[in-house]
Amino acid sequence: MIKANNFLKVYQTGKIAVTALKGVTFHITAGSFVAIMGPSGSGKSTLMNILGCLDTPTEGQYILDDLDVSHMGENDLAKIRNLKIGFVFQTFNLLPRISCLRNVELPMIYAGIAEKERKNRAFEALEKVGLANWAAHRPTEISGGQRQRVAIARALVNNPAIIMADEPTGNLDTHSGEEVMAIFQELNQQGVTIVLVTHEPEIAQHTQRILKFRDGHLTEDHPVKEQILARDILDGLLVAEEGLI
Ligand code: ADP
Ligand code: MG
Repeated sequence: MIKANNFLKVYQTGKIAVTALKGVTFHITAGSFVAIMGPSGSGKSTLMNILGCLDTPTEGQYILDDLDVSHMGENDLAKIRNLKIGFVFQTFNLLPRISCLRNVELPMIYAGIAEKERKNRAFEALEKVGLANWAAHRPTEISGGQRQRVAIARALVNNPAIIMADEPTGNLDTHSGEEVMAIFQELNQQGVTIVLVTHEPEIAQHTQRILKFRDGHLTEDHPVKEQILARDILDGLLVAEEGLI
């Protein structure tokens, strides 16, 4: 589904050129759940921007679903994004003054979907992440974990084949992080391909494969031997919270 062939990415700011990706090659098959790891500045966000069709590589080839998107212009890239990709960010990126339901509706407004269907689908997406009761509330009235779940609902409404998540648990406590990972694991079971950037080894252990980056190079690529199920962790936390152990 995703073929990254020899990605090179150079940022030119004035006279200074920064090479963020220095020849990166890998493939991701449909239905995978992949973690991208590596220290700050190693090129993770640069890679996610290219994989998410927000940017193009300076050199190299990006094949997405048999389509060469390496040299597409902004309009064509935007179409591919709307069709295929959902985004989740560390800072949620919700609009604070409108309801959660309205936030989830936004991608469908851009896609030109009629109001009734929009509301129905937004509500269904909120149900999927367990927030149907919070639809009328604003993001400022809910917790960080709940905000991230609204952001996931928003990423889901156009039925994307791929979800790109850059540090989605970075601002969350353990419990909320596990709830987010439980939703991702469930979506992955339903066939959604997920690519997730994380600093945390425990979070990476919830995926199926880890790609590690350093200084713009892919330095490690290995399967996760024993995938941690977020549901198991949440059950354990519940037992601990109720004082049963
Ligand atoms: P990571 O997400 O792993 O922290 P990034 O992809 O954000 O790494 O950055 C990789 C390198 O590219 C860093 O040296 C960073 O300073 C540089 N960089 C990232 N974005 C830009 C940009 N828009 N302009 C110039 N340099 C950038
Ligand atoms: Mg980053």
